[in-house]
Amino acid sequence: MSRIDLHLHTTHSDGSLSPTEVIQLAHKANVTALAITDHDIVTAIPEAMAAGIDLGIEIVPGVEISSSMGSSELHILGYCINWQDSELNRRLASLRESRHTRNPQIIERLRSLGLDVTYEEVRTLAGTESVGRPHIARLLMDKRYVTSAKDAFDRYLAEGRPAYVARELPQPADAIAWIRAAGGVAVLAHPTWAKVAGEGLITLLTTLKDEGLGGIEVHYSTHTKKQTTEYLDLAKRLNVLVTGGSDFHGITKPDIEVGTGRGDLKVPEKLLDPLKKAAFLVGRS
Ligand code: AMP
Ligand code: ZN
Ligand code: FE
Ligand code: FE
Repeated sequence: MSRIDLHLHTTHSDGSLSPTEVIQLAHKANVTALAITDHDIVTAIPEAMAAGIDLGIEIVPGVEISSSMGSSELHILGYCINWQDSELNRRLASLRESRHTRNPQIIERLRSLGLDVTYEEVRTLAGTESVGRPHIARLLMDKRYVTSAKDAFDRYLAEGRPAYVARELPQPADAIAWIRAAGGVAVLAHPTWAKVAGEGLITLLTTLKDEGLGGIEVHYSTHTKKQTTEYLDLAKRLNVLVTGGSDFHGITKPDIEVGTGRGDLKVPEKLLDPLKKAAFLVGRS
């Protein structure tokens, strides 16, 4: 049964597989189109496009930008972006720089807790400029301080845990504007992270829509049927697009597979055309 997957990470950010490896897995899972949505970086896209041509999979150029609003971290996906846009790349470079400001502070905390880790080791392991907490989690796994990435987040890295350090994040309105300025469609990723439901979520989404949000990630690996239905209804009510994806990361989220998530994800192929049409209209506005 063919499907699409519009949310995937590679080694260019905190995923553990290369763009080519991700696309090979997508091919095995009967994925006909996919979006690479690395955090704050677009360098995976040329390799992904070449592998996509080889295997007959359509590649949607994407990105995922973390933003914050109140106490919530909102991730904004950008689709059909002109990934070579110089202004977008300047913004992304500055977001990656803010990671290099925060990460050494996390390492300092881990060291003060008695763990023998350095930021140099994290950077070597990451091998990319977009270094995230999952890379730190992997170093802790390699050094046997933790048994899994989840264990690393639960014990040290998650908000409220002893090595957590907040990063300076843009407002969602900024992330949305940068994506649109690069000709892309901005979509709210995994809406459960908004920490609000019901009327609160409607208010939030209405604000984001006014700021240029074009869609909601309705289909997602960890969504319950109830959540999927709720977000689908909200997308209809607010007249925004529906998207979906696995948020595949490889080893740091070992229960999530390309295309199928935890086994029951199925993102309909029919969602792709409206997304491309919306991007066409952004490009002309
Ligand atoms: P950062 O971008 O450095 O703030 O790291 C956040 C990223 O870590 C998220 O985008 C997820 O990909 C990942 N993440 C968050 N919580 C967990 C968790 N409990 N287990 C594994 N990965 C996680
Ligand atoms: Zn990630
Ligand atoms: Fe995310
Ligand atoms: Fe993601």
